[in-house]
Amino acid sequence: MAKISFVDLKRQYESIKPEIDAAISEAVQRADYILGADVELFEKEYANFCGAKNCVSVDSGTSALHLALKASGVKRGDEVITTPNTFIATALAISFSGAKPVFVDCDSESYNLDVSKLEVAITKKTKAIIPVHLYGQPAEMKQIKEIADKHDIKIIEDCCQAHGAEYRQKKLPVTDVGCFSFYPGKNLGAYGDGGAVVTSDNEFAERIRELRNYGSKIKYYHSCIGFNNRLDNLQAAVLRVKLNHLEKWNNARRKNARIYNELLEPYGVITPKELPNRKHIYHLYIIRTNLRQQLMAALTNAGIAFGIHYPVPIHLQEAYNELRLKKGMFPITEKISGEVLSLPMFSELKCEEIQEICRVVGNSVS
Ligand SMILES: *Cc1c(COP(=O)(O)O)cnc(C)c1O
Repeated sequence: MAKISFVDLKRQYESIKPEIDAAISEAVQRADYILGADVELFEKEYANFCGAKNCVSVDSGTSALHLALKASGVKRGDEVITTPNTFIATALAISFSGAKPVFVDCDSESYNLDVSKLEVAITKKTKAIIPVHLYGQPAEMKQIKEIADKHDIKIIEDCCQAHGAEYRQKKLPVTDVGCFSFYPGKNLGAYGDGGAVVTSDNEFAERIRELRNYGSKIKYYHSCIGFNNRLDNLQAAVLRVKLNHLEKWNNARRKNARIYNELLEPYGVITPKELPNRKHIYHLYIIRTNLRQQLMAALTNAGIAFGIHYPVPIHLQEAYNELRLKKGMFPITEKISGEVLSLPMFSELKCEEIQEICRVVGNSVS
């Protein structure tokens, strides 16, 4: 067992136990397990939190992306642009829709899609672009929107790591559609899988509502080939409790990131940069070093958990062999995948723990 875990969900539960236990108990007693009261209330509360008109909850972030693509009319023969430096679910959702994922390399400072390489990737077949707000830092949405509007391409924001992150003072999503994951380890996490599509487009929200519920608005009447992708009421009950703490938890993560940045400064590892006009909510705290092998060994020895996000860029994953993309095609993503390391990051992480982690990092790389 690691002395310091990567994410400590038990510590978080202990801090809100009475509220969670009461919410679960009430939901169980109400017995409205599917599309129940908590689902309805959570959708209102989360839409409100995001400053959007609608939130349609679903059973995962992957489903949110998939249904958003479906509702945008993306189909076989189309192309959808995203970055190879993301969790594979972004690309999987594109594949589920029948479209082909087209990748644009990431930028070496923000780790998000490099806007300067976006326009050349657009073809007549491009129907949508999925910018990913990776690690909790918003992508360069102003320029992405300008390019998408010019070519009449739909934007679907992958906000799965960015609950409560802000771009130019506005919470994500900043365009029409944002997809969220409530996987337990995310900044807002359920006690199982969950997700949501957040949108200010009422018609789009209605299409997602139908798609998540067997293609049905009225029970036993089906207007399209839909799915069973609903969020459980029990998960919604948990999420409603946790949503009340999200802003405070995000700010605690930001404070932890500041402490890390300061303590790591002397050691020559590359620390994350919060770019102008952004509120980064540090879903992950990523450092880069070309001494990763020895750093990993030192952390393991000291009982400190860590992660690599992500060790294999999507275009080099076996699952995407059929795209015939070669090593060298997305050099920044490939380079950083060999250098990134994620240190423990969660709201309840203590200052002494960060100090200990930084001591171990310092001793191993300097
Ligand atoms: C977690 C995540 C997803 C998928 O969410 P699930 O709820 O696990 O299906 C998609 N994209 C990104 C960037 C993620 O981090």
